[in-house]
Amino acid sequence: MSFEKSIDLNYQRARKALVEEISSKGISDLRVLDAFLNTPRHLFIDGAFSSRAYQDMSLPIGYHQTISQPFVVARMIELILKGNIFEKVPLGTILEIGTGCGYQTAILSNFCRKVFSIERISPLAERAKINLKSAGVKNFLIRCADGSLGWPTFKKFDAIICSAVSSNIPEPLVKQLEVSGKLICPIGNHEDQNLILVEKKSRTEITKKVLDSVLFVPMLPGIVDLDDK
Ligand code: SAH
Repeated sequence: MSFEKSIDLNYQRARKALVEEISSKGISDLRVLDAFLNTPRHLFIDGAFSSRAYQDMSLPIGYHQTISQPFVVARMIELILKGNIFEKVPLGTILEIGTGCGYQTAILSNFCRKVFSIERISPLAERAKINLKSAGVKNFLIRCADGSLGWPTFKKFDAIICSAVSSNIPEPLVKQLEVSGKLICPIGNHEDQNLILVEKKSRTEITKKVLDSVLFVPMLPGIVDLDDK
């Protein structure tokens, strides 16, 4: 067997173990588990950390940011897919705030026609595009912008997922949610945060549920254009 092939097999085994781990922690949606089984997380991580690519932990990706813990990504996606009218068919569009290295974008790409993703740090946005391409993902669009302001055209999304914590649910995001869509967002401060699930019941009516305690990097305003890691 070639060296590359045996490395690939090792990664496959490691991915299977990761899927068993997040399943034992409570993720039961088979579609979500399948997406984790098929997404090469090692391609989204700097070489120095590749031996830890399939551990259920967040890891540094430069610019003081991290790739999220797989369990938390899985949990957020499971919440978005659960019990709504879209359960059996893929969503149309998902908006992601905080692309980071693009790993969650890759997972999300399995569940919709197109993922729209916003990252405020320009070199990370560029790297995410390269990572996604090398993982064979095509149905995404990444912009460098302040995601708390929403996608900068008048567009509605079937689901919105934030990967950075803010003190309040950004109003532009609630506005860009389709009726019967779901928004999941960590809310709180640097030491006390919870996932909040917002459901848009009608044009004027939303419900909010406070869920798991989590730990995300902060949602910050403006964009960063420098390449000074
Ligand atoms: N989704 C990632 C996690 C990225 S970490 C994953 O696949 O694991 C959170 C990211 O949110 C960081 O890259 C950070 O730069 C970005 N971020 C923070 N505030 C933001 C904002 N206002 N708009 C867009 N991105 C933001």
